[in-house]
Amino acid sequence: MPKKELNVLIYPDKKLRKRSIEIKEITGDLLKFLTVDFYEFMKLRDGVGLAAPQTGIFEDFFVMDTSITEGGVKRIVINPKINSRSPDKIVYQEGCLSVPDIFADVERPKEIEVEYINGNGEKIRETLRGMNAVVFQHEYDHLMGILFIDRLSETEYMKIKPLLKELAGKNGKKH
Ligand SMILES: [Zn+2]
Repeated sequence: MPKKELNVLIYPDKKLRKRSIEIKEITGDLLKFLTVDFYEFMKLRDGVGLAAPQTGIFEDFFVMDTSITEGGVKRIVINPKINSRSPDKIVYQEGCLSVPDIFADVERPKEIEVEYINGNGEKIRETLRGMNAVVFQHEYDHLMGILFIDRLSETEYMKIKPLLKELAGKNGKKH
């Protein structure tokens, strides 16, 4: 992992739509970068999650920390897969460091079974529920080039549409 200054890409940057690729070789340097630099970068920005493509790195990893809420978890996630999604849904108000100051209700599966490589390089399988499942799915979406604003109901989208337009006006010119 090359040492570089981390920066968050902001909507409507087209790079946020790029699909990330699986990491073939999990090195000590990568694990250190993720558990220290990348994780701390997220914490500094008060994020509950941050995915690689948000910083212009198009590889399959993200970090999350939902420990501000009861039952919250800290996770370093490499090469994630979502193996199953519950039919039960949960509605959660989501935001994103790449879509600053805009929040909207998103409906997602309430429980998911996932597998990934953690910050120690170990293969993990686990079931996540509630906010932990929401954040995992939000970050996983980033790896696919999907943003939470793509998952809104018509009503929710209409509420934030003017704000998105304003944000695109501020940031769109550079791209
Ligand atoms: Zn996000």
